[in-house]
Amino acid sequence: MKIAWPHMGSLEVVLTSLFDEMEVDYILPPPSSQRTLEIGAKHSPEFACVPLKTTVGNLIEAIEKGADTLIMVAGKGPCRFGFYAETQRRVLEEAGYQFRMFPLEFHWDKLFELVKTINYLKQGRSWARFVRAVRFALHKAYLVDQLEQQALHQRWQDKQEGATSAALKKAYQLIRESSSFEELDRARREAFQLLYEVPKDEGREPIYIGIVGEFYLVLDPFFNLGTEEQLGRLGAYVERAVYLTDWLRPSGKNPVGGVPDRVIEEAARPYLSHTVGGEGIKSVGHAVLFKKEGFDGVVHLLPFTCMPETIAKGILPMVSKDLDIPILSLVIDEQTGKAGVATRLEAFADLARFRRKKVNHRGMLPAFRTHLA
Ligand code: SF4
Repeated sequence: MKIAWPHMGSLEVVLTSLFDEMEVDYILPPPSSQRTLEIGAKHSPEFACVPLKTTVGNLIEAIEKGADTLIMVAGKGPCRFGFYAETQRRVLEEAGYQFRMFPLEFHWDKLFELVKTINYLKQGRSWARFVRAVRFALHKAYLVDQLEQQALHQRWQDKQEGATSAALKKAYQLIRESSSFEELDRARREAFQLLYEVPKDEGREPIYIGIVGEFYLVLDPFFNLGTEEQLGRLGAYVERAVYLTDWLRPSGKNPVGGVPDRVIEEAARPYLSHTVGGEGIKSVGHAVLFKKEGFDGVVHLLPFTCMPETIAKGILPMVSKDLDIPILSLVIDEQTGKAGVATRLEAFADLARFRRKKVNHRGMLPAFRTHLA
């Protein structure tokens, strides 16, 4: 049995750790590429949201490398994500691929099926070992998020373009190689040190940009065409609305970003008072909060045909007007080119910089989320 799953940002660091700890075989799909998008789009329904097409492409490439057991989180919605596993299964079967698909549904009424599935996937390893492996993998996820957050906050100061991203890559490697809590602790110190030691240009003034939007798009740099890195290069201190930990451990506490769901929903209430699936309500709430915290602009990332984010996109112009904060919605699909996104981000960064000088208090730092202060 060779297990595979689709890519989603740094999820791979977490799941490879889980299966390595369990000594269960897996196959990583090749990094997402233009080919991934093309084969995914070729086999998927035309109006499926783009993350579905990309993940279908990942799964096909994993099967081509020898995977025969596919895992995918599933649920009841409320957006299409809940039906991805079933759609992927049908799409791949119709395309003639041989595999077994195991949807992982984290609902009380599906607990029995979930336990049965995990029991099969863990290949006779003990439950105690499985629980230990999950705990360890979640610790890695939290550390990855903290490192990514540090990179988002410091990239604008890079003396040499790409230095923070290169340090982050090395940091991932340190985390990957850790196989005990002691090693992970050491890796944490060394990884942060790598980031802190990146030579900085102390003379610059940053702009402050928040990123909101659909979680897959926000978390996956291939899919969002490197928006975070591009903003960093343009001199932006960046904060994200969503981190991998929010998705893996949906406690509603937002431990990395530092703003609990109830605060976000409260902030969104004047514009949107009920959930619309996905991150729709959070995109609106975070945009409001970013303004309150003194950010200069918000970039909203949404996949083409994404229902919840299309609703948020309809509301955000009102937030922008009421609160006087520029918001750029970027709709991304398999046809979107990096150059087009780069041009729009450049113009947006110029606008944010102009406003920082003229409208916001020059030099004033945003009121950062309490745990970051
Ligand atoms: S949030 Fe949007 S893009 Fe993501 S699965 Fe749901 S509908 Fe699709």
